[in-house]
Amino acid sequence: MRILVTGGAGFLGSHLIDRLMAADHEVICLDNFFTGRKSNVEHHLESSRFRVIEQDVCDPIDCEVDRIFNLACPASPPHYQADPIHTAKTSFLGALNVLELAKRCGARAFQASTSEIYGDPEIHPQPESYRGCVNPIGIRSCYDEGKRIGETLFSDYQRVHGVETRIVRIFNTYGPRMLASDGRVVSNFIVQALRGEDLTMYGEGLQTRSFCFVDDLIEGFLRLMDHPDQSTPVNIGNPGEFTMLELAETVLRLTESKSKVTFHPLPSDDPRQRKPDISLARKVLDWEPKIALEEGLGKTISYFRNNLST
Ligand code: NAD
Ligand code: UDP
Repeated sequence: MRILVTGGAGFLGSHLIDRLMAADHEVICLDNFFTGRKSNVEHHLESSRFRVIEQDVCDPIDCEVDRIFNLACPASPPHYQADPIHTAKTSFLGALNVLELAKRCGARAFQASTSEIYGDPEIHPQPESYRGCVNPIGIRSCYDEGKRIGETLFSDYQRVHGVETRIVRIFNTYGPRMLASDGRVVSNFIVQALRGEDLTMYGEGLQTRSFCFVDDLIEGFLRLMDHPDQSTPVNIGNPGEFTMLELAETVLRLTESKSKVTFHPLPSDDPRQRKPDISLARKVLDWEPKIALEEGLGKTISYFRNNLST
């Protein structure tokens, strides 16, 4: 098949492209290189089945494809808050352009949505039926509400135009190829520990997250995209739940670092807890994560040891 991956030069997109190329598909990577890097996909550049379009997903997309994965959007809070209006445009116009292309080509379209659509959840763990608790006017809203309208557009193109749609709600995912400057907690703690710098704990560190290793997530993406008719959203994530203090302790132990933990103000609207209910993914995709946190952290630490300029 001929497959478009928007945001394909980013962390998740480049791992997805590796799997699609290994399965002999033709792949087009569309990216504006805001947080993505050419080096993430350069090992495919010599293949005649691969090409890169340098473009903003906010502009109409012109190509012929069978399937589209829409991943273009900065994912880390510092990056998506750097230009919040462009993040909102990326979320809305990006989804719209992808869906228009899907309608024109008769392609199946896949949306990378997020656990952020649950906001600061009052229900724990979060099933897909939970409608969320999101602040519409806070510093995270450009992303959270952007991803919510993305889900709305995908659902309406499916209902109104019969476009085949798939929506994944991704819970915090980590692994090799995250940027050292990404700003999300796993890469921050690992990079800080390896550099012997203080680990920056926001708040008291009692907030929780559930961390999924990238290989597990991408397997879930592929199963969902291949599903014959699953058009409602599916949570993909690892239900193991950890406080940020537990994460810091584990990173310090695995890196054998002597770094200290320092405490900083908690950013506003920072969700207190997050853990996916993955019953639906288990049932319809026969999917569950295989890689536990320590194993995944070990692989990520090795990556940063080899790729970090100190
Ligand atoms: P990333 O920042 O590494 O990748 C995003 C990619 O999109 C980058 O290559 C970036 O250059 C590109 N991009 C950003 N804005 C663009 C635009 N306007 N036009 C074209 N390209 C643009 O982040 P990631 O972790 O790989 O996330 C990929 C997708 O998955 C995002 O949509 C994100 O919201 C979603 N997601 C990720 C996580 C996670 O934990 N990694 C969690 C929830 C949702
Ligand atoms: N966090 C932290 N130190 C950091 C970066 C993040 O304590 O250097 C916290 C952040 O406040 C949040 C959690 O770690 O409570 C996860 O943050 P991340 O940005 O990775 O993802 P998100 O908040 O979007 O789930």
